[in-house]
This record gives sequence, C-alpha cells and structure tokens, in this order.
Amino acid sequence: MLFQVPPPTRFDLNFSVAGIPVRVHPLFWLIAILFGSASNSIIGVLTWVIAIFVSILIHELGHAFAMRRFGQGSYIVLHFAGGLTVPESVSWGGGYANVGISANQQIFISLAGPFSGFLFAAFVLAVSAGLGGTIVPNFVFGFIPFPLVSLPIGGDVLNSFVISLLWVNIFWGFINLMPVHPLDGGNVSRYVLIQYDPWNGVRTSLWISVITGGLVALAGLIFLRSMYMAILFGLLAFQSFQALQGGVGRGY
Ligand SMILES: [Zn+2]
Repeated sequence: MLFQVPPPTRFDLNFSVAGIPVRVHPLFWLIAILFGSASNSIIGVLTWVIAIFVSILIHELGHAFAMRRFGQGSYIVLHFAGGLTVPESVSWGGGYANVGISANQQIFISLAGPFSGFLFAAFVLAVSAGLGGTIVPNFVFGFIPFPLVSLPIGGDVLNSFVISLLWVNIFWGFINLMPVHPLDGGNVSRYVLIQYDPWNGVRTSLWISVITGGLVALAGLIFLRSMYMAILFGLLAFQSFQALQGGVGRGY
C-alpha cells in the first residue's frame, strides 16, 4: 500500500508543534532532494528541501488542527510520498475507539490541508509585496493560479525560495484536491457522494478516482514531463480500480 505509515527508524526526526507529534522518516529527505536536484547548486537543492518540508508540514498541521477542533487527537508522519495526519485512537473504557466524526466534518478536515497551504501562499505573496517585490498574475494549465514573483532583495536564493514555496503550496494543493483516492480531494468526493447515495457513493467515487487518476498521470507526463506524477497517479488509479474489482464499497 502506498499510504501506510512507515515503521519508525533510528534516523527519524521527532518533534512536536503545538502539542501535535511530528515524525519525519529519512526517505522524506531523499525524495525532497530528488525534487530539488533539478537546480544546479547545493543552495538551490537546499531551498527546495526547506520549501517542501515547511509546506507539507503546514498542510498536515491544517488537517491536525481541524481534527483537534472536532475532539480528535492526531500525529503527523512525513514520508516518501508526502505526509500523513493519522487520527489517534482514544482510550474508551479499556478499549479503543475513534471519536465519531460526521461526513461533513470529514470534508472539513480534508479541505483544511490544501486550504492552509493556500492561506500560507497568500501570506508569502503579502510578505513579497511588502518587501517591494513585483507580482505578475499567471496560470498553469489555464486554471491553476501561479503568480510570478520577483523580489528586489535576497538574490537568486530568496527568489527561488519564494517561487518554490508558492509552487508547492498552490500547485500541489490543487493536485491534492483532485478527486483521486486517497488524496484529500478523493476523501471529499467520497464523503459528498455517500451523503447523496449511501448505497453506491463509494463505488462512484472510486470510478471517478480511476478516471481522474489516469488523466492526471497522462497530463503530468505530457505537459510537465513529470515521471513522478505519472507513476504516483497511475498507481493511485490502479489502486482504486483494484478496490472496485474487490467489491470494496458496494452497498456502503
Ligand atoms: Zn492532505
């Protein structure tokens, strides 16, 4: 499975943010370095790694704080395929049970990740404007906003750092909202559909996941020449297809 929590290693980095435990698996850094390796300098790679780390942490904290709002404790794991916010089981009279969370609360929790990234991107833009930077509106694929920022200070390092932050928080946020299981958008589509169709909602959301996953894999390969996107979304589409074959979700 692609999104299982990897077991702890002795190279894990452990800390906590506002009482939420965070564990960073060593493969997280490796993948972040691979993403940054397109830049030609050590500093360029380092800027990417920091931008990815900060952005994914903010995304997961969005989920974690939303869960806390509904009385659900959680912990965060950053691993090779991004991050995960795992609901903590609460002690319940000797046994364990999760806090009951309604479909609408699940939708709120799923959206809180990408939207905390969008808010952070807005903050980065505001700081850039405050520093006297120029911001030119721009769109990727004609609909994903990706403003071009250039700062009069900080040289290439600060400029590429700001662009990396905007790219990860905005572009990856949109990608994460695609209705592909188990991404955030896939959870949203699942919980929306089961409210309208308790019998077949999960199956419908899995079919949407197969089709969208396949299309995003192709688009990533053709337009972004991103093998990572093609493989990741190809696998996710295949996983949803397998879930359908196994009859998962029938009559949920
Ligand atoms: Zn998320």
